[in-house]
Amino acid sequence: MPFTTPVIACTYSEIALKGRNRKMFLRKLVNNMQAALRGMSGVTIHHVESRLLVRLGSETQADEAASRLHRVFGLQWVAPAIEIPRATLDAELAEDKANGHVPRLTDLCEAACGLARDGAGNARHFRINARRSDRSFGLNSLEIGMHVGAAVHHRCKLPGRMVDPDFTIDVLVLRASVLAFAAKEQSFGGLPACSSGRTMVLLSGGIDSPVAAWMLMRRGSRADFVHFYSGRNVDEADTAKIEQLVQLLAGWSPVALHLHLVPVVPYETRAIGVIEDRYDMVMFRRFMVRTAARLARRNKCLALVTGDSLGQVASQTLHNLAAISPDVTLPILRPLVGLDKHEITAWSRRTGLFETSILPYRDCCSIRSPRPILTARGVDLLKLSEAMGLEEAVREAADASVRRDIVPVGQA
Ligand code: ATP
Ligand code: MG
Repeated sequence: MPFTTPVIACTYSEIALKGRNRKMFLRKLVNNMQAALRGMSGVTIHHVESRLLVRLGSETQADEAASRLHRVFGLQWVAPAIEIPRATLDAELAEDKANGHVPRLTDLCEAACGLARDGAGNARHFRINARRSDRSFGLNSLEIGMHVGAAVHHRCKLPGRMVDPDFTIDVLVLRASVLAFAAKEQSFGGLPACSSGRTMVLLSGGIDSPVAAWMLMRRGSRADFVHFYSGRNVDEADTAKIEQLVQLLAGWSPVALHLHLVPVVPYETRAIGVIEDRYDMVMFRRFMVRTAARLARRNKCLALVTGDSLGQVASQTLHNLAAISPDVTLPILRPLVGLDKHEITAWSRRTGLFETSILPYRDCCSIRSPRPILTARGVDLLKLSEAMGLEEAVREAADASVRRDIVPVGQA
């Protein structure tokens, strides 16, 4: 029985391009990986030659560990692998060379054949993709590919093919060990969660804003959420769907996420009889952004995030976007501004948010006047704000907000 260990080999993405801050980002990334693997016994993480190797307690942990690591931002590739110590391989190779024999590479060939048996399925051909991070190994990449390829071909009766094969086995030579893996899967890249400050996300029950939140979480921000509900109190509003969305997003975060639930009643009671129907949508958006900015300051968030996409609905014309918040000094980040609805929907599906986003929910935006103005002017909105007492509405709403701390499913 060869002496091999199950590992998950991971590569990191943009962090590799960082200069002096690289160490800090790497430390964050490793901490986040540890948080994602919490509760799995015997798991250790090592930084080895620009890779992060997650050594597992047992082979049975591999699938679960890989799927949890896919949700760690900052990782580029995740591959369940077999790790073979160099010492035995090197000694055997030296002996074969001294005796003029064909290199046996026993443990490596055994591992590669195991991967082919387990994973090749109906593949018609395969290829060994060998690389060396450490070039002191007694064979070059081509020779490794040739010898390991011959073993797989012979034992698994699978023909080799260099171009466009159905199945690829990667072999990576490191200083102290050799990795063999076949199920290399691309991850989502980005920067480690909580490495670039806090944001306040305006979260509706729709498709767009959860994707916007995910995109900025992928850039390393820690998201707080604000949701505005209609109804006299939170229980009456039934915000279970909103909490479910935050719970899904919390699956990408090493820490619990905060959801602030804010009543819209303070706006509505002041707007009645003062705000004309056609101005109601933009004024209501103004109320939301101003209240979110207030909560952002209280919670040390450095920017607001919305799911706006230019021109998608009336409140998102360029005129209205410009007029709604001229007096909000916090940056308003709109990661979806240039995306089409079908692109946003594709992201929603890819991130597992879609099924929850399409559950029925009566968002307070959807019950506003049906014919909103498309070209509002900032000066007019400022006058209307004075007339209705927007400032007090904002203060009252922020003070009536309720905070929920939300962890991913299974971590309650
Ligand atoms: P979404 O799919 O995110 O609901 P949408 O296309 O329906 O977006 P709007 O309803 O105009 O567009 O909302 C634009 C943005 O305003 C949303 O993406 C979100 O950031 C914010 N928003 C809308 N409704 C709410 C709400 N009830 N609470 C918090 N933010 C909201
Ligand atoms: Mg909406």
